[in-house]
Amino acid sequence: MRVIRTIAELRAWSREVRIAGKSVGLVPTMGALHEGHLSLVRAAKGSCDAVAASIFVNPTQFGPNEDFALYPRTFDADCALLETDGVDVVFAPAPDEMYRPGSTTFVEVAGLSERLDGKSRPGHFRGVATVVAKLLIAAEPDRAFFGQKDAAQVAVLRRMVADLALPVELVVSPIVRETDGLAMSSRNRYLNAEERKQALVLSRALNAVQGLSLGGETRASVLIEAARRVFAAEPAVRVDYIAVVDWATLEPVDEIRGGVLFAVAAYVRKTRLIDNFVVE
Ligand code: AMP
Repeated sequence: MRVIRTIAELRAWSREVRIAGKSVGLVPTMGALHEGHLSLVRAAKGSCDAVAASIFVNPTQFGPNEDFALYPRTFDADCALLETDGVDVVFAPAPDEMYRPGSTTFVEVAGLSERLDGKSRPGHFRGVATVVAKLLIAAEPDRAFFGQKDAAQVAVLRRMVADLALPVELVVSPIVRETDGLAMSSRNRYLNAEERKQALVLSRALNAVQGLSLGGETRASVLIEAARRVFAAEPAVRVDYIAVVDWATLEPVDEIRGGVLFAVAAYVRKTRLIDNFVVE
């Protein structure tokens, strides 16, 4: 497995692969890898001839009071996992390589970027769209792999790829969970034992709502209220949002139907966690 630090080298590698008639898959990550990330790597390995994973803690997607400095950085362990799963290239640029000093160009997906996580984290999706656009332009992959765990991010990136007519297919993989239901996240490392238990309220709320939905309840207001009741039983956890939205536009909808995203975000002390399900 090769570790690449520069955009020029990544592009040269990708072009070489594609000139040989083979396909390239890209798995963008911020490192601190877990089974959720590895599920994307396996999806990429399953459908592409050569796979690059990027590890870059992207400063522009963090707000001034967020956890950029604290964000777990476990590069050597990450590389060991990626190598075991057969990744060909790890792209791990320095911040200056992704944001050349003096650079002023950003990608803004207007509208969508101000909804859900974008509403609570102003500028977050601008940072995400910018770094993913840079990675796609650098790696020129045939397919790029993302997790449904970050469902609003998927909506923003789908819009960006369509609007910029980028020649890439976005592939979305299901949420990977711990055995007790907690969605895997690099930020779960922040939780102490008590918070780890409290964090289960997110998946509990989603299970309750999914149960009602399967039982025929379609009214968004009723489902949101049901989730609120579950959260109320865990007062240490502060709800950020409970939302029923169209997965493409992130606009609120009144009725649950196919293509609708039920998403929650909540703070367990200082740790912000998200979870969701999509109605098929
Ligand atoms: P991150 O390193 O948090 O930026 O995540 C990199 C990619 O992994 C994103 O596309 C995430 O949606 C995806 N991902 C993170 N956690 C999970 C999970 N539990 N299940 C599936 N995909 C995930």
